[in-house]
Amino acid sequence: MRSVLAAFCFALLAFPASASAWSLDYEAPSASISRGAPLTFAVRTTAPAGSVVVRVSGSDDVDAEGLLTGPEGTWLDEPAKQALADLQVWSVPNASVLRQRPGHYYWQAYVAGDAAAETDEPIGPVQELIVTLPSADRGKGKLYPRFGRRGSQRFYLSSKHFPETISGTRFQRVIKTAAARWGLKAQRWTSVAAGVRDGFSVAGFSPKVPSGTLGVQTDYVRGGRIVERDLALRADENWAAGPDYPALDEVDLESVLVHELGHMAGNKKHRSRCVNSPLDEALGAGEWWRGARDKWFGNCSAVASAASALRAQKLAHRVIVVD
Ligand SMILES: [Zn+2]
Repeated sequence: MRSVLAAFCFALLAFPASASAWSLDYEAPSASISRGAPLTFAVRTTAPAGSVVVRVSGSDDVDAEGLLTGPEGTWLDEPAKQALADLQVWSVPNASVLRQRPGHYYWQAYVAGDAAAETDEPIGPVQELIVTLPSADRGKGKLYPRFGRRGSQRFYLSSKHFPETISGTRFQRVIKTAAARWGLKAQRWTSVAAGVRDGFSVAGFSPKVPSGTLGVQTDYVRGGRIVERDLALRADENWAAGPDYPALDEVDLESVLVHELGHMAGNKKHRSRCVNSPLDEALGAGEWWRGARDKWFGNCSAVASAASALRAQKLAHRVIVVD
């Protein structure tokens, strides 16, 4: 009975009263999907076959027409295919960044080409799509011995050169947790600067970290013994303090802290990029490593078209011998 009714409805919709009165009505996806789950964009419309395009972006910026826009590599267009007389869809392949990278995305459908001139509203509204990571996969818990050795040091948090864009409370929470995962202890705030030899082990931000480097962990050594351990993060980086994953142009604060505090715990060697380790030598904007199953590296394989324009930055460790 249902199939007969459905066929009848489709027949009606295939011959609309006015061909120019299209609308773009979204039927799918829902506002949130789990990583790896099937993902289909479905638009109920009588616009001509092949004229509907789905645009997906990492940010909700739109141009004067209301079309999602942003820097190269942060959005993509995909033509929808005619599935039924009044339904056009894009079924996203499993390898796509959209199904594999948890995060916030924005999308819309629009009518392209000659067909766009035949309707008053060729650009559909912007919708949010959240790709979630199952909570069991989220990065937490100790990082030793699987990813390195355990430390036991204590250090202070530096308020000097602290960026206005980051909440101090949030920074304290993230660094305390990241430190504890390596066995380290983050203590109270101090105004002592990070990355300066002064007898105090501190972690904070510094304007002296060179461009292209996200953070530097420094051991000051006297007589073969480490006498001070500092961590300096680049002050004017475009940091994402979480807990949301970084946008495609942001650097994940938690990942950088997990990495640098791994050095402070005594793990000096880097791993090559894209290895499943917090101690990878570089991290790009929009990437993270918060746990063995809570990670994203953008240009490790062909799946990362939306993130391929991203440039990875270095994560550094240095030893300074003092007398
Ligand atoms: Zn490093």
